[in-house]
Amino acid sequence: MNAETPRAARPADCPCGGAAPNQKAGTRAPRYADCCGRFIDGAAVPATALELMRSRYTAYVLGIEAYLRSTWAPETCPADLDVDPAAEGAPHWLGLAIKRHEQRDETHAIVEFVARYKTGGRAFRLHETSRFTRGADDRWRYVDGDVSPS
Ligand SMILES: [Zn+2]
Repeated sequence: MNAETPRAARPADCPCGGAAPNQKAGTRAPRYADCCGRFIDGAAVPATALELMRSRYTAYVLGIEAYLRSTWAPETCPADLDVDPAAEGAPHWLGLAIKRHEQRDETHAIVEFVARYKTGGRAFRLHETSRFTRGADDRWRYVDGDVSPS
């Protein structure tokens, strides 16, 4: 048995669409390799919570659990994380919009976003304000978030 997980296919255009606060409608998506790909595939480290948030969205789209775990604060990372996009009932992610990115101080930031997805033939919006902290290793990590009814 080969214990290695198969490498998920990488898209040409970045699934996050380069989402940013005040992004103009119709902006072309950046190349995956120039956007979240450099973080997910380990060539670079996100400099801001916003870059980390986008790359985590993209990791959900691609089902890259290892990246989600490595960018999650150990205190809040769930043991039973399952992000296989091929699993039954798994959300089909449709797009990301960033409403707000605020760096509160050197080690704390929030990102408010809306992620659209479909599951069971119905469309949903996840509107969340996420909290991020930066560790002693200078890396931003997701802590938790408040979901807004929308
Ligand atoms: Zn991206």
